Amino acid sequence: MNAEGGAEVEKFDAIVVGAGPAGTAAAATMARAGLSVVLLERGEYPGAKNVMGGVMYGRMAAEVVPEFWLQGAPIERVVVEERVWLATEDGAVSLGHRSPHMAFHPDGCPNAFTVLRAKWDRWFAQKAEEAGAFLVPSTTVEDVLWQDGRVVGVRTGREEGDLYADVVVLCDGVNSALVQRARLRDHPVEPHHLALGVKEVVGLPAEVIESRFNLEPGQGATVEIYGAVTRGMSGYGFLYTNHDSVSVGVGVLVSHLMRTRITPYDLLEGLKRHPLVRPLLAGGETLEYSAHAIPEGGLRAMPKLYGDGVLVAGDAAMMVNGLHREGSNLAMTAGRLAGETVIEAKRRGDFSARTLALYAAKLEESFVLKDLRKYRNLPDLVERRPDLFTTYVELANRAAHEMLTVDGVSKRDKQRKIWREVTARRPVWHLVRDLYEVWKAVR
Ligand code: FAD
Repeated sequence: MNAEGGAEVEKFDAIVVGAGPAGTAAAATMARAGLSVVLLERGEYPGAKNVMGGVMYGRMAAEVVPEFWLQGAPIERVVVEERVWLATEDGAVSLGHRSPHMAFHPDGCPNAFTVLRAKWDRWFAQKAEEAGAFLVPSTTVEDVLWQDGRVVGVRTGREEGDLYADVVVLCDGVNSALVQRARLRDHPVEPHHLALGVKEVVGLPAEVIESRFNLEPGQGATVEIYGAVTRGMSGYGFLYTNHDSVSVGVGVLVSHLMRTRITPYDLLEGLKRHPLVRPLLAGGETLEYSAHAIPEGGLRAMPKLYGDGVLVAGDAAMMVNGLHREGSNLAMTAGRLAGETVIEAKRRGDFSARTLALYAAKLEESFVLKDLRKYRNLPDLVERRPDLFTTYVELANRAAHEMLTVDGVSKRDKQRKIWREVTARRPVWHLVRDLYEVWKAVR
């Protein structure tokens, strides 16, 4: 009998919704252990419409597909340099780190590398298929199915599209409606817990990219840009080098966009016109334009992570570490841990919340919840204090300008002048308070 008392229907061990990094990691993990897994993806193929800045992390990918870098993975460039610009309208204080040792772990696994999601997601999902998962693209899951108070399957948009399984793993990304349908959260995600990212892929010959970013063939660089480029809103711009294109984009809180009424398009155009960015993209051809939400609410905005017959991983569970530009790696790790939990539940023959709670315990032990817990106060600060993104960036630029202008004024006098300027903008008491607030949010 099926869940509704009708004729016999096929039942899987697990249904995974969404073939992004989280869903594919979950499906590959379970399929490799011999479970019957169906991976449902609404796109024409995995990655068809997926958007991200583009930096992935090798360690977490290798935990899903060992030695992926030797298996034709569509890596654009391996990151050897990470820069941060604190930008004014026409200049920047630049920080960063470059080292050949940063590029690879001792076993040859790339530390961080750039990707284009349309290629990466497709390849990654293919690995899940090779492990035995049954990928069904062009299929949107519209609801979860319930029986006796537990989730027993999903309703897809297809004709006769109900599917049943012992467990449903929700990996349907930031705009997940299914998290609510599965009663893991009772309200939609709030605007101040979401950022909107807009991104353009600008085509340039590989040699031009290498010369402009000071790279050898195959090497990549990242630039994160804080300050004037977000026009007083919390967020940052970015430039990531691909093989023969550069991903340029900017992400800011949706609540701040609603308040300022600045359009994301304007923001991105402004970033591309910035005097430090323009020469890096000069002569390039826009290949792609996209926009996507980013869940930035952190630990306090996470839904319940499991219920009877259901788990949630990745963006759908608000697993993004915005400060470190990490999301894909949290998604892959959470997906893998969700998969391992289901394997254990299958061994025990118990898919109730009591067994699936193991997932939360595994996440607590991993960097995923450790990092989100560490930064649990940050989203609130980012929402309340967009001025931190401008005031201190401007002051850093003023200080650098003063110290680097050789005009016969002694360095001690310059220091005094800088301090006077700083305290005119932020009285000492405010400086101390700001420092304390930032420390509290990142300690
Ligand atoms: P997603 O990647 O969103 O995948 C969800 C999948 O589910 C999609 O394939 C979607 O089509 C499918 N789906 C959704 N609903 C349904 C449904 N109802 N039925 C069937 N299928 C469905 N992270 C980084 O690590 N590095 C970065 O540089 C970075 N930059 C970013 C820049 C931008 C502009 C944005 C928007 C995000 C960025 N992120 C970055 C975050 C990263 O993209 C996400 O954290 C990561 O993709 C989450 O993976 P996921 O599998 O949970 O969700």
